[in-house]
Amino acid sequence: MNHNLFETFAAKMRERADADFITTREGRHYSYTDALNISAQLAGALTELGVTQGDRVAVQVDKSPEAILLYLACLRIGGVYLPLNTGYTGDEIRYFLNDAEPALFVCRPKLEDEARALAAETGCPAVATLGSADDGSLMEKSRHATPCEEIVTLGENDLAAILYTSGTTGRSKGAMLTHRNLASNAETLVKTWLFSANDRLIHALPIFHTHGLFVACNVVLMAGASMLFLPKFDADIIFEELPHGSVMMGVPTFYTRLVQDARLTPQAAENMRLFISGSAPLTSETHEAFEAKTGHAILERYGMTETNMNISNPYQGERRAGTVGVPLPGVDIRIIDRESGAEVAEGDIGILQVRGPNVFIGYWRMPEKTREELLDDGFFITGDLAMRDAQGYVHIVGRDKDLVISGGYNVYPKEVEQLIDELEQVVESAVIGLPHPDFGEGVAAAVVCQAGASLDETTIFDHLAGRLAKYKQPKRVFFVEELPRNTMGKVQKNELRKRFADAYQ
Ligand code: ATP
Ligand code: MG
Repeated sequence: MNHNLFETFAAKMRERADADFITTREGRHYSYTDALNISAQLAGALTELGVTQGDRVAVQVDKSPEAILLYLACLRIGGVYLPLNTGYTGDEIRYFLNDAEPALFVCRPKLEDEARALAAETGCPAVATLGSADDGSLMEKSRHATPCEEIVTLGENDLAAILYTSGTTGRSKGAMLTHRNLASNAETLVKTWLFSANDRLIHALPIFHTHGLFVACNVVLMAGASMLFLPKFDADIIFEELPHGSVMMGVPTFYTRLVQDARLTPQAAENMRLFISGSAPLTSETHEAFEAKTGHAILERYGMTETNMNISNPYQGERRAGTVGVPLPGVDIRIIDRESGAEVAEGDIGILQVRGPNVFIGYWRMPEKTREELLDDGFFITGDLAMRDAQGYVHIVGRDKDLVISGGYNVYPKEVEQLIDELEQVVESAVIGLPHPDFGEGVAAAVVCQAGASLDETTIFDHLAGRLAKYKQPKRVFFVEELPRNTMGKVQKNELRKRFADAYQ
């Protein structure tokens, strides 16, 4: 049996031959037959460029339907797709090329010279370009290439992709994902979220990250659905497109922006059947405001680069604000006490571990890190703190690395942040631990206020005084313009810790 994920996709593509796979607002559209044919042409071009089974193909390109066809072409020939954040600079790219040793680097046309220099320096043998308007040397080559119709036969543990983590807590790590990892998760999500060929996904996420690439595209391909590709999130365009879509996947910032918009009404979302959120925590306020304005309860789910999706709120049944739902079918979870290593009781906080066919096989060229985090019994240490409530819903409390230990006591930042955020003039906050001579770490808060707000440190201290134990209260509050975030909208607390490192010294 061929475990190549493309084999499964190809069956759907033949079945859905004339149906749209990807469309754009500029009127470009690729049917499923196009996807079959062009991925074969691109596979031919990859082969001519020297890519063979097991080779990495590093891709740093702007979002386009062709980039997805390139991903499919890679799968076809058993290549390992390795997408890179378009925000990465030359120095960062150098690191990834050295680390991953790709056989080919596909870059944006305007950066070709720089890419060639980096490729030469790092020993990458080939460079090609891909623009966002069906242009660039790769598309050109594919048009003349001998199509590679074959679908390479693979085992289920062969690599489909190396995906680098977002780098929220430190340097990005390359997660090795197999065909089985991707196939099993896509299948599960299609069933759990009731995806069908009738769905039209509004796709406004980047495609170098697991959310926009595997969750969105693999689910669409597995269901034979279609998607509208938008270059980025733009509220004006979302409101124009909502009447023509059925599902949207977004990061929490999409939803916080939509709820502030007067155009968000039940009528605006009338044609939609599902709004999904993930990649970072969605606040209960946003969840509730969205439901009040549209009648739709956002479905929040939890996953990560290393594992695809693990936990999801139900499609039917209660989608509970502030939780990520219950483990997906086939996924086991356990929550482990930080000190004792035993499973915690219901309602207690510990480190979340997950196991399932979705869990990656290790970090690329980081055997030690892999051994530390991927346990012998198959469980992966996510590094997130979680709690399971009486109904079995999982609450993500924050990252283990962001836990503050002050004077020997655990302070969960989220608890403090939620209280600070209650203040009317506060937009958002981030609570961190900073080196402290007496307590080891001292609690501190970075706070973003509304324009013209009259808040000061004392207002915040007073608000928390009666509500929190003394050791949980910040000793300093820093007012900042905005919180540092990465491209996925995740707050980078290590940046804040660096910025205010000397506060208690
Ligand atoms: P790095 O591992 O490089 O520090 P990262 O963990 O942000 O970066 P990703 O794999 O993109 O890289 O993100 C996974 C993380 O995102 C999870 O471990 C979790 O902390 C967070 N996350 C994802 N979905 C949710 C959610 N629904 N609620 C809260 N956190 C979430
Ligand atoms: Mg991570």
